[in-house]
Amino acid sequence: MKIKGIGFDIDGTLYNNISMYLCTIPSFLKHPRLLLHYSKARTEIRKMRPISNFRRTQAKLVADSMGISEHDARRIIETRLYEDWVHLFHIIKPLEGLHEGVAELREAGYKLGVLSDFPVQNKLKFLGLEDWDCSFTSETTNYLKPHPEPFIELAERLELKPGEILYVGNSYEKDVLGAAAVGMKTAHLSSRKIRNSKADFTFSRYKDLFEYIRNLN
Ligand SMILES: [Mg+2]
Repeated sequence: MKIKGIGFDIDGTLYNNISMYLCTIPSFLKHPRLLLHYSKARTEIRKMRPISNFRRTQAKLVADSMGISEHDARRIIETRLYEDWVHLFHIIKPLEGLHEGVAELREAGYKLGVLSDFPVQNKLKFLGLEDWDCSFTSETTNYLKPHPEPFIELAERLELKPGEILYVGNSYEKDVLGAAAVGMKTAHLSSRKIRNSKADFTFSRYKDLFEYIRNLN
């Protein structure tokens, strides 16, 4: 099937992992206990089905493990974490070659989307990469990657079949296996090769990814 759209993960894919950790340090320093319970809830929620209201389920998990009310948990996640993060990512820079490459994909007529497990907020603005056909967090589908829902939603928003999309991400389990399970082609951003990788392409420099896409169809 001809590839007509490219989907990207954000954190660790459009900018490097080190910046991601640096950006979240202030949150860790200010709210260590909350961050710990939040991370635990995110691990747990990945294994849960069905979920009908993601933010509520997440708040309930955090509330139960912190011994506070669900209402308070939801309020502190949204004010202390999500609202804080809006400002913290201003130092992020896109990985080398992305600007030119994404512009080239646009020029070539590909549909382009971004899908992240975290709220997208103004990360794309900070990266100077704002021209997408869709950008959303998997939270809106009630399921995080590698569940199929976020990837199916991406295909729907791009108005393409999953088989017409190449999904690019830095997490083998979440991005590569998740996207491959719904029939997408996958590109894995990784400096180390995984043995018997299910990714269609593994790369560490965007230059190589864009070369691969040029030769795809
Ligand atoms: Mg990532």
